[in-house]
Amino acid sequence: MTTPLVPHYIAGEWLRSPQLATTPVFNPSTGDVIAQCPVGGAAEVNAAVAAAHAAFPAWSETPAVERARVFFRYRQLIEQNYDTLCATVSREHGKTFSEARGDVHRGIENIEYACGVPTLLFGDTLANLARNVDCETLHQPLGVCVGITPFNFPAMVPLWMFPLALACGNTFILKPSEKVPLTAVLLAELLEKAGLPKGVFNLVHGGRAAVDSLLTHPQVRAISFVGSTPIAKYIYETGTRHGKRVQANGGAKNYIVIMPDADIGKTVEALSTAAFGCAGERCMAGSTAVTVGAAAERLLPDLVTAARAIKIGRTDQPSPAAQPDMGPVITAAHRDRVLSLVASGEAEGATVIADGRDLQVADAPRGFYLGATIVDGVQANMTLAREEVFGPVLNVMRMDDLDAAIAQANASAFGNGAAIFTASGRAAREFKHRVKAGMVGINVGVPATMAMFPFTGWDDSFYGDLHIQGQEAVQFYTQQKVITTRWFGGEVGDVWKK
Ligand code: NAD
Repeated sequence: MTTPLVPHYIAGEWLRSPQLATTPVFNPSTGDVIAQCPVGGAAEVNAAVAAAHAAFPAWSETPAVERARVFFRYRQLIEQNYDTLCATVSREHGKTFSEARGDVHRGIENIEYACGVPTLLFGDTLANLARNVDCETLHQPLGVCVGITPFNFPAMVPLWMFPLALACGNTFILKPSEKVPLTAVLLAELLEKAGLPKGVFNLVHGGRAAVDSLLTHPQVRAISFVGSTPIAKYIYETGTRHGKRVQANGGAKNYIVIMPDADIGKTVEALSTAAFGCAGERCMAGSTAVTVGAAAERLLPDLVTAARAIKIGRTDQPSPAAQPDMGPVITAAHRDRVLSLVASGEAEGATVIADGRDLQVADAPRGFYLGATIVDGVQANMTLAREEVFGPVLNVMRMDDLDAAIAQANASAFGNGAAIFTASGRAAREFKHRVKAGMVGINVGVPATMAMFPFTGWDDSFYGDLHIQGQEAVQFYTQQKVITTRWFGGEVGDVWKK
């Protein structure tokens, strides 16, 4: 049986690329190939940029209130198609249905934020900057903007980008992950239904060739990227070298410090979700628990019990009642990488205290499964401690005091998130001030920011100046103009006499 070819969407047309090169899209729950994603290149990118460039003058001159109305309709359409979208996310990514709902819901919040664009674009004014001279600022769109997105949030991450970019008056090209292109197609179909004019939004599939064409195209003005650190760095360096504005979010390794006075029941619950939610495939996953003093003995027995109780299975079942607690990881190759990182930790002296490596799912023997795994005694110099694992694996590092725990978190090359679980305001305050991470949780395991706040990764988790989401993103997608005005003739107060 042939699998369907995923279409590009360029200049308002759905195009099934004539090129032969495709990459398989899997259902990770079963290991089956469910679609073929075309490997777009310069031809598709050039056509998409030409369409977006041609659509820009009319769209950017459309009043902000009218642009916002498209997104009010878009929000409603997404609500109406919630279940279809979530089922698609679950099928091509492997998230459970409730995780997929979270993915789409966070995306909706970004659309809601974009609906406020008429006020988000307000400028400043100062009358009588000098005698008879006034000053005002305008926020104007840039032109053609690009979004390049990862596999792990098929709905939310694209929705971090294009609703706000478009609402600000730009036109847009989305290059989604080739592993999850089907959700992107649904998002584009609903945008078309919301009444967006042709060419304003375009969808091009592919990998490096498409990305390189976008990074170097003279008519592309700005690039938003989310993905792994090496690619984020490459995107930032190449895009900025070609004169583009770039915001590039990279990978992460997030530390969760547990103090001896933490509420153990609540901490176990939060840690399990932080480490194993979305099978650990989250840039805000709590991938290392740093226990301080007696916290390890209080925490670990219950944490291991909780990890062993996590039910793993297929997420592509239509009935919500049949849903497991955790689904598969994205590909067989990714599962094998996670396994080899755990093996490297063991070889270097760490101990696996909850072992999900041999997990079998009876009704899906070819699915890409891993059970929840906890590795104790991880040391700073181990590969497992340094590399992003991006799977359902929680490292445990034991420290004597808060200073050592903070120093360990701060030794990481990444700087996305960090959290502390404690009953002590003093410890929380120290942590909040000293930890080197852009998003900090206090008794919150996954402090991922919502649409109105920037997504503030630091260090190797972010390259650029203006982050995704919130007012920083409005600045990213617009350029400021400052107008200084003076009208000649007459003195102050005598204009009507002339
Ligand atoms: P990835 O870097 O492999 O791919 C991301 C995008 O880059 C995809 O669209 C892909 O097609 C493209 N790409 C891949 N290789 C490329 C190359 N050589 N040249 C040009 N483009 C290339 O990332 P992924 O595996 O899809 O996603 C997981 C990663 O994303 C993790 O590292 C995770 O931490 C990170 N992530 C970060 C954030 C954040 O906000 N910091 C959010 C979500 C995911």
